[in-house]
Amino acid sequence: MAQSLQTFHTFSLPSQCLHLCEITDTKQLQQQLFSVPFCILGEGSNTVFLNDYQGTVIKMATKGISLTPRENDYLLEVAAGENWHKLVTYTLDHDMPGLENLALIPGTVGAAPVQNIGAYGVELAKYIEYVEYFDIAQKQVIRLSKVECQFGYRDSIFKHALKNKVVITQVGLCLPKQWQPELSYGPLQKLSKVTAKAVYEQVITTRNSKLPDPYVLANAGSFFKNPIIPNSQLHALLKSHSQLPHYFYDDAHHKIAAGWLIEQAGLKGHRIAGIEVYEQQALVLVNHGNSQGGDLVAMIKHIQQQVWQRYQIHLHHEVRLMADSDECNINLQEQP
Ligand SMILES: Cc1cc2nc3c(=O)[nH]c(=O)nc-3n(C[C@H](O)[C@H](O)[C@H](O)COP(=O)(O)OP(=O)(O)OC[C@H]3O[C@@H](n4cnc5c(N)ncnc54)[C@H](O)[C@@H]3O)c2cc1C
Repeated sequence: MAQSLQTFHTFSLPSQCLHLCEITDTKQLQQQLFSVPFCILGEGSNTVFLNDYQGTVIKMATKGISLTPRENDYLLEVAAGENWHKLVTYTLDHDMPGLENLALIPGTVGAAPVQNIGAYGVELAKYIEYVEYFDIAQKQVIRLSKVECQFGYRDSIFKHALKNKVVITQVGLCLPKQWQPELSYGPLQKLSKVTAKAVYEQVITTRNSKLPDPYVLANAGSFFKNPIIPNSQLHALLKSHSQLPHYFYDDAHHKIAAGWLIEQAGLKGHRIAGIEVYEQQALVLVNHGNSQGGDLVAMIKHIQQQVWQRYQIHLHHEVRLMADSDECNINLQEQP
C-alpha cells in the first residue's frame, strides 16, 4: 500500500513509496524480498525524495547497545537503527569520551559509516573498529575492518563497491580510555575548562546557532560538499578572492568552503517556491513548504551555475537525491 514519505526524510518534500518496510530485528532481513527498486533508509536526514518512489523503502529501526570494557579502551557494539546523537550522549553519560565533537549530527548509527560523518575536526572513521552488514546476494552477515571500509572525506566503500548491495546491521566503535580532545575548531579553542562534556555542550550550542533544527524547519544539513581543488587552482583563485577560506587536504590539494562560494555569489536568501538558501548558513537549503522536487532541482542547478560562472568550480551535492526508481545526480556539464 502506498505510504507517504514526507515525515521519513527531513527535507520533507511531498512524496510516497509503494511499500515501506520497517526492520526492527535483523532476522527480518533474511526474509526480506529485495526486489528492485528498493532503497535503505535510516532517519532520512541525508536523503531527499524528489517525487513518488516506485519501489520499497527499507527503514532500519533495530535497537541495542552493548559495552565491553577492555584494557585500554571500550568496545561499543551498536545496532544500526539507534539514533546517533543519543549514542553520543550515552557514551558521555557513561564517562567514555571521544565522540563529543560529533554531537547533534542527525541520523542513525547505521548510516554514519556510509558517508563517514564528521564535524569539528573529527571523523567517525577515527573510532571505527568494524562495520557489520547483511549481504543481500549472499544472505549472510559479514564484518569489515576499518581499513576494509575505505573511509575518506564523506566517503566509504558503502558509497561505491557495496552500494545497494548491503544493509549495515551493526557498528563496532572503539573509544580509548586515554582521552585526547580535538579542539582545533574556533569555538572549542575558547573553552575555559576542557572536559568532554564541555566540548559536547559547546558543539551543541554552536550547531544550534548555525543550523536549523530539521524537525522545526525542514532541511538536509550541508547540501553541497566542500570542493577539493588542486593547489594551482587555489593559488589562481586567491589572486582575485584573497578571503577564500581554504584548508589543507593533501600535498596537492586544498579543501575550500562551499558555503562561502554560495554566499559570495549573492545567493543567501535566494528562494524558489518554498525552498530557500538559508540566511544564517548558505550551505544549507531549507524547505518552508509548498515545494516540489522540481523546485529543489531548479535551485540546485541555479546554485551550481552561479558558482561555476564565478569560480569555475563545480559543486557536487552531498545529499542523496531519490527520483522515481533510483538515485539521481544533478550535475552541470563541467565547462572546459
Ligand atoms: C541539520 C543537519 C546537520 C547535519 N550535519 C552533519 C554533519 O555535521 N556532518 C555530517 O557528516 N553529516 C551531517 N548531516 C548529514 C546526516 O546527518 C548524516 O549523513 C547521517 O549519517 C544520515 O543519517 P540517516 O540515518 O538520516 O541517513 P539516511 O538519509 O536515511 O541515509 C543516508 C544514506 O545511508 C544509507 N543507509 C542508511 N542506513 C543504512 C544502513 N543501515 N545500511 C546501509 N545503508 C544505509 C542510505 O541508503 C543512504 O544512502 C546533517 C544533516 C542535517 C539534516
